Amino acid sequence: MNDEKPVNKPREYEGAQEIFEGRFSDIPFESPVSPTQLGLDDEIQFDCHPGISCFNECCRNIDIQVLPYDIIRLKKRLEMTSHEFVARHTLPFQMDAHGMPGLKLMTKPGTRECVFLGEEGCTVYEDRPTACRYYALGSMGVRAKDSSTVEDMYFVVKEPHCKGHEEPRRLTVREYRKEQGVEKYDEMNREWRDIILKKRSSGPTVGAPSGRSIQLYDMCSYDMDKFREFIQTPGFTEIFDTGQLEMDSMMADDEALLPFAMRFLKQVLFGEMTIPIREGAREARLEKRKSHIQERRQEDADEEKVSSAVYDMPDEGGDIKDK
Ligand code: SF4
Ligand code: SF4
Repeated sequence: MNDEKPVNKPREYEGAQEIFEGRFSDIPFESPVSPTQLGLDDEIQFDCHPGISCFNECCRNIDIQVLPYDIIRLKKRLEMTSHEFVARHTLPFQMDAHGMPGLKLMTKPGTRECVFLGEEGCTVYEDRPTACRYYALGSMGVRAKDSSTVEDMYFVVKEPHCKGHEEPRRLTVREYRKEQGVEKYDEMNREWRDIILKKRSSGPTVGAPSGRSIQLYDMCSYDMDKFREFIQTPGFTEIFDTGQLEMDSMMADDEALLPFAMRFLKQVLFGEMTIPIREGAREARLEKRKSHIQERRQEDADEEKVSSAVYDMPDEGGDIKDK
């Protein structure tokens, strides 16, 4: 991506936590992001259509973060599991100092061209990711210090190759979002974004997540098929009370499953009681764990006895004295 204007973040948000949903996973120090912060009713001048001279130029130099709902749409379109999609079409990166895993859309070997760019343009257009829908806008969620609410902000991203800014059409950010079908994507990804922001702003109070929490975060964010299997295991169903109706819809539909995965993630990362726990489940689990530990100890003790016996056995002929 080309450098054009330095970023000038709004002063009142200094020190706040933010997450940027554009073609950049974070705002680079020098970037083409316009410093003007836009609201839903502000106007932009932009148009993009197949006849434009720069058609598809923006797909030849990408840096796109893939969000949870992007995966749900794309894996369905490509008729693959979420695990297959992630393995074949994304690359991992660390979203923050705590090592929270993020994913970027893969590029074709040796280039920065999107894997989904074909001769005629985007081959997954109806299910393209959030960042592609927004472009040439970027969206950012900002959570001010000591605030529980996250505010949405929008910015124009002006890159020299993009001639869409020279087109005469004017429309509001709200109209543009509607036209690009981004509202549904934002709605589905919002909880996830808010969790990331909360995790970042909680800092040392909550502390770095454990390896297990990161694994669960990874599954809840990017692998709905694995999460679906996980919530059917006895380890989950014996503890959490999901209700049969909710379970049925989650078995059939990733879009019902994702909000539930976000509820579970809040429980994992922040200890919020977002999913009811079955009566007596904690005690039963503790009891089970206790007897499991006892069994393990017994096994270890038995093993110890066997190995001591083997160790104490004389080597063949070793201790046998000649008569
Ligand atoms: S997914 Fe489609 S629109 Fe997005 S960068 Fe790739 S080819 Fe372009
Ligand atoms: S106008 Fe901009 S967004 Fe549209 S194809 Fe050209 S470079 Fe891409």
